[in-house]
Amino acid sequence: MAEEKELELSELSFDQLNIKETILRGVYGYGFEKPSVIQHKAIPVLMSGKDVIAQAQSGTGKTGAFSIGSLSNVDETLKETQVIVLCPTRELADQTFQVMKELSSYTEISFCKVVGGTRVNDCISDLRKDPQVIVGTPGRIIDMIQKRHLYTDKLKMMVIDEADEMLSQGFQELIHGIFQCVPRDSQVCLFSATFPDELVEMTDKFMNSPERILVNKEQLTLEGISQYFINVKHNNWKYDVLTDIYNTINIAQCIIYINSKQRLNQIYQELNKDNFPVGMIHGNLMTREREQIMEQFRQGEVRILLSTDLLSRGIDIQQLSLVINYDLPIQKETYIHRIGRSGRYGRK
Ligand code: ADP
Ligand code: MG
Repeated sequence: MAEEKELELSELSFDQLNIKETILRGVYGYGFEKPSVIQHKAIPVLMSGKDVIAQAQSGTGKTGAFSIGSLSNVDETLKETQVIVLCPTRELADQTFQVMKELSSYTEISFCKVVGGTRVNDCISDLRKDPQVIVGTPGRIIDMIQKRHLYTDKLKMMVIDEADEMLSQGFQELIHGIFQCVPRDSQVCLFSATFPDELVEMTDKFMNSPERILVNKEQLTLEGISQYFINVKHNNWKYDVLTDIYNTINIAQCIIYINSKQRLNQIYQELNKDNFPVGMIHGNLMTREREQIMEQFRQGEVRILLSTDLLSRGIDIQQLSLVINYDLPIQKETYIHRIGRSGRYGRK
């Protein structure tokens, strides 16, 4: 058998990181035994109050790192919003929200999810309870801040997951707007698997001498992921090739990335007609439909999921063992994020 490197784990145990007892219980209860390298490196810096830019390969436990670090900073006696975690999509916000809630099962920390596509009135009434930790997407969060339903004057910490995406064109203005409403001295923490250099340069506008943590930057793709390409001469042969490889490879679950919604829809119809157990997700679906399909995919009821880049980042489904790029992504970073949906936490 070829020698493959295992996921690098830290030398330390979680006990040695000075994590609050109640949170530590949550960490072990969640099933984590030892910290990954990014967790070992980032948690102490997050707890020290310093700004952080952390980069580590996909699937190496960045969520755990910023969750444990930020939850440790919450003053449970202060019933005000102290931490905001920003995510690029509702699906990722959902997932992160669940993880953070579970990790804090043995604490009294209060949470609220603030995401788009939900009823504004529900959101407002949840925010009246002054949740200590908010996980959400930037559009709804800025809206709630501006309409004075979300108070940021006691905010200690802002975590931005998938930070390079969040600071790029599509989101930049929203993020900028949010920064204008948070106290100048709050701690800012950025996490991602990719950080183009020009982006790191622009962070000095809103960060205060951040500590940079890099884990294996030179080796962006994981050892456990094998990559293949099939040279298809004509676009309209792709569908046959797709069904061929699906029939030959015995896979647990698979995501197929297709760049355009229209094309995605078309392929969905065809696969459906050919009786493949297929589902689809993209930004034009209703929130309810998006939630339903995610649930079915997580449960394994749907084995093949067609997606736009909506799901290219952050989504963590352990049984996912094959990623197909029906189209090449437009940005090279996206490729890293897409394939990183498989090979989670050292899986092959
Ligand atoms: P990233 O954000 O770096 O891509 P995630 O935070 O989504 O990675 O974590 C990937 C997977 O690894 C998740 O399923 C998570 O539960 C698991 N994981 C994270 N940290 C640990 C740990 N210390 N021990 C065991 N599993 C872990
Ligand atoms: Mg992540």
